[in-house]
Amino acid sequence: MGFDLGGTNIRTAVARVDGDNATLLGRDARPTPQAGPEAVVAALVSSADAAIVAAKVRISDIAAAGCSAPGPLDHMTGVILTTQNIAGFANASFPLAARLAAGLGGPRVYLDRDTVMAAIGEGLAGAARGARSFVYLTVSTGVGGAIVADGRMVRGVSNTAGELGHFPVGFDRDVRCRCGSFGCVEAYAAGRNLAEAYGVGDASIVYAKAAAGDARAAELIARAEAALASLAVGIVNALNPERIVVGGSVAEHEPTHVLDPMRRAIAERAFKVPAAACSVVPSALGADVSIIGAALAARDRATGAGGWFL
Ligand SMILES: [Zn+2]
Repeated sequence: MGFDLGGTNIRTAVARVDGDNATLLGRDARPTPQAGPEAVVAALVSSADAAIVAAKVRISDIAAAGCSAPGPLDHMTGVILTTQNIAGFANASFPLAARLAAGLGGPRVYLDRDTVMAAIGEGLAGAARGARSFVYLTVSTGVGGAIVADGRMVRGVSNTAGELGHFPVGFDRDVRCRCGSFGCVEAYAAGRNLAEAYGVGDASIVYAKAAAGDARAAELIARAEAALASLAVGIVNALNPERIVVGGSVAEHEPTHVLDPMRRAIAERAFKVPAAACSVVPSALGADVSIIGAALAARDRATGAGGWFL
């Protein structure tokens, strides 16, 4: 079973895992409660119940569950340390995995960061299959990522490695980022930031305006493309990956404004040897990437096969 806990929505699925293929049998989706951790646990448990009914299985059929959530978090203890993205979880230090396991009354629950789960999914069953060094990048409401180098997930000393959305690419102090810094990739290229900069509710409107000839929308999108282009060159030069897998709703809907500028920049500006070895490819698992990754991560952690990403 996989959970994808986001700031806006909870998505849950029962998965049959066969080798590295995860088939989603039954699903549920519902809004994320904004009333704090206890309400979130209750909603996750209800969502699991609904997905189990939809899959026509029983809780005793569920071998393990994985829960994808925004970080920072401790994937070994299953504790969300703090996240600004879910109401009530700022400075929470909340033992989500243990509390969710108690609520489910059966399977063990394994927690990990959403982009790490996505990288596990793409690595085992998606667009990074077979690559020992790859980067997963999501361009969505926010920008995030995960790094796999020489067959191992790069965690860093505080388990925040791979937060590529906060790689600084600009010197303009007026381009503020939610993290407290300025000039981050996310501040230019995240859907939420694009929409806010233009003064609308959704980035799709900015892309539509630019396509219709609106100069201000076009300028904001050109800036977002430049930020992603610089990030791509930095990734190739610093990490020498075989693939950069790009997911997220903005990348999915606007590949010519996300993947193409990254590819062009790598060809034009990156070191030639790593540039020739790297391809930029779309996510193969789409919107289900974190759920599938969570289900596969749960299976591998429960069976002791998850050493490469722990
Ligand atoms: Zn930032």
